[in-house]
Amino acid sequence: MEGLANYAVCEAQSKGRQYVEPPTQGRSEFQRDRDRIVHSEAFRRLEYKTQVFINHEGDWFRTRLTHSLEVAQIARAVARRLRLNEDLTEAIALAHDLGHTPFGHAGQDALDASMQAKNHGRFEHNWQSLRVVDVLEERYATFDGLNLCFETREGILKHCTPAAAQTLGAVGVRFLRQERPSLEAQLANIADEIAYNNHDVDDGLRSGLLTIAQLEVIPAFGQPLQQVRQQYPQLHGRRLIHETIRRMIHTLVCDLVATSVQRLDDLRPQSVDEVRSLPRLIGFSEHVLAQQRELKRFLRDHLYQHYQVLRMMHKAEQVIAAMYDTFTSEPRLLPLIQQEKIPRDGIARTVADYIAGMTDRFAWREYQRVCALDERPLLAD
Ligand code: MG
Repeated sequence: MEGLANYAVCEAQSKGRQYVEPPTQGRSEFQRDRDRIVHSEAFRRLEYKTQVFINHEGDWFRTRLTHSLEVAQIARAVARRLRLNEDLTEAIALAHDLGHTPFGHAGQDALDASMQAKNHGRFEHNWQSLRVVDVLEERYATFDGLNLCFETREGILKHCTPAAAQTLGAVGVRFLRQERPSLEAQLANIADEIAYNNHDVDDGLRSGLLTIAQLEVIPAFGQPLQQVRQQYPQLHGRRLIHETIRRMIHTLVCDLVATSVQRLDDLRPQSVDEVRSLPRLIGFSEHVLAQQRELKRFLRDHLYQHYQVLRMMHKAEQVIAAMYDTFTSEPRLLPLIQQEKIPRDGIARTVADYIAGMTDRFAWREYQRVCALDERPLLAD
């Protein structure tokens, strides 16, 4: 890639793929990673997985797929301005949520709790995203997974417990040494935050669970709203909201670029290895960070813990927990293709992989088929 900064990940110095493959023609290795991610089954399923609102609650809300596309858009725009590796940044952003369960965080927490209750280990969605690209995708003749480059895999693994890190080889080392990942990975992480904070405000208003009057007192929303009202006093409804949110994103992106450029100028890292031992370089100013914290608190209190969201999540948790308990107690109820994985992965991990891979609607249907005691025909459909 032309014009990359010294501190960017350069393909020529990549630590490569686990299984050696002939070089690709006409595209970079990180573009190849991105293409493999986009063509994967797990990526397509993101379309029917919850971000905040359950997938069937409305066609206009974000799903994990549209969320991932928004993250990639923001991350690429910033990568170009910082002369980072845009292809790598995009690949990480598109893959970052591949391991998410159905029903958002409620689904993940329920699956983790179910595993822990039976002393079956843990479920971590970042670790699962890596597992999807390393093991679970079955597409290639000679290897499991997508055989992505080390740098893409490392970027996908945003968080990880020390215990899990010890099982992951080279990609887990940075957690044990407490080092930072590449700037491309740091950027994808922050782009995730920018995307969800802003689209959750949008979806919250659209759903009617949040109101402009409530949000107006939060500076991250109130200040741009004020600007829009001054510029377009007659504007109202969806256009007023969109004009406000696009200014929110613009402010965050500009602050992110300016703050990161300042830190890079101060510390002048000359290589990716130097980046690893320095403090986090991609980030917001203190002022914007404080505003974002306040917005997050607001969203937690008024949206994520709104009783209508909690009701949905309460049901989702029961669906996940019931399926986990049923399948681990009686593995013969699993589809044959899943049963075949038990000798390799053990029953607990096989069931966790099966549940984590489900879309929201598939999880509901599977729960009905296996666990629900209603008057539906006894023969499974
Ligand atoms: Mg995300």
